[in-house]
Amino acid sequence: MIRLSAAYSKKVGLPGYSSHSFSVSIETELQNLDSVREESACLYDSLQQAVDQQIQKTGFVPPDGYGMEVDKNGVWNCSQKQRGADRKDPERKQPRPKRPRPPRWRNVRRESSGAQQAPNQRAYRRAFGSVREKKSRPVRSQVRRSEPEGSNHMIALAHPRFESTATSRPEGQRTIAELTKTISASRLSTWQRCRLQFYFRYVAGIHKSPTPGLHIGTTVHTVLQQWNLARWHGHELEIQELREIFSRAWIIGQEGEQIDWEGNEETVKSATWDLIQLYLHETPITPDEKPEAVEVGVEADLSGHGLPLLVGVIDLVRTGGRIVDFKTSARRPDPELLAHTAETQTTSYGLLYREATGAKENGIEIHHLIKTKQPKIVVNELGPVTEAQIARLFRVIEAYLKGVAREDFVPSPGIQCAACEFFNECRTWR
Ligand code: SF4
Repeated sequence: MIRLSAAYSKKVGLPGYSSHSFSVSIETELQNLDSVREESACLYDSLQQAVDQQIQKTGFVPPDGYGMEVDKNGVWNCSQKQRGADRKDPERKQPRPKRPRPPRWRNVRRESSGAQQAPNQRAYRRAFGSVREKKSRPVRSQVRRSEPEGSNHMIALAHPRFESTATSRPEGQRTIAELTKTISASRLSTWQRCRLQFYFRYVAGIHKSPTPGLHIGTTVHTVLQQWNLARWHGHELEIQELREIFSRAWIIGQEGEQIDWEGNEETVKSATWDLIQLYLHETPITPDEKPEAVEVGVEADLSGHGLPLLVGVIDLVRTGGRIVDFKTSARRPDPELLAHTAETQTTSYGLLYREATGAKENGIEIHHLIKTKQPKIVVNELGPVTEAQIARLFRVIEAYLKGVAREDFVPSPGIQCAACEFFNECRTWR
């Protein structure tokens, strides 16, 4: 028996810097060698016809400039290396209309390399652009035993699934040295909420599939990020294009994950899209308002205060220096409580903005998309960050540094446990 394998593939370029490809392969058995030539020709014709027929269906084709987040920050004041992709921006070749100049951005930081990202982060990045740290999901792993520096001897999980060595350290785990070399609002907030939760997430690097709520939040952020980026590039995305982005983000966020939808995924998906449409209808941002920055990674040097580098990603900066953070929530936030609970985050954003632009922010807006039966959009406006808030943030950072250095990872049981993804680990912690 002679086995003959044949494959045919074709890749075609599409507008908007995209391409698609398709391949078909087949394996057949021949009775004798004499028929190889004839059979090959026949297979080639058949496979080519099959590929050509299918590849004409282009599916979603991104509009011009789609996903070019590398050019999103307007007038950058950073190194040429950081601005590497800047040269690719066709808009920068156009003469700029005369208008009041926005603040100049500096200390704009590149986001973490693909090697440090969880698989789904890389998928998001390929498909849509940047990914926020707070959405990062550490890889599947449990306990790190042999670390080169800052190992943790205080905490042990009751039932580790497997162990790793320093030389094969999984992506989600970070050393104490890494966690104190730079700081971020999301890490500080987790630390404030519960030190054991911080340990599970950042030190042990335990991976959890996203909850439906987290998946909704990630998808909403992705759609709004692309909507903002398009306006930064000077055009408005059609509702159909946003719908396509939404559908893709919904799928990508679930790749390799097990989200427990309790049989309601389609209902939740439809409600999430309705929520996005409501936001687009009710947002105070007009279609022609060009952002100052979109999903920008920035850093603030706090060494003058004896503190490490503060890093973070700001969702959006509206014209005039108004920092915007998008949140999805199951209930309407109380403005006073929100200002209190989000202070570490909002103060960090204010500091980052000031360091990046040399200007004081004009205020901070928190845009809530509320997933109630009757969805609502609520915009809470906070004033510029005050000196008292900055002083408080510095005290929080100092406490964080001391606590992490001495591996103070004790639990803080409270109302937050109801939504904690590490509840089971916490119950068996020793
Ligand atoms: S269950 Fe509660 S105490 Fe335990 S890690 Fe989570 S938030 Fe902390």
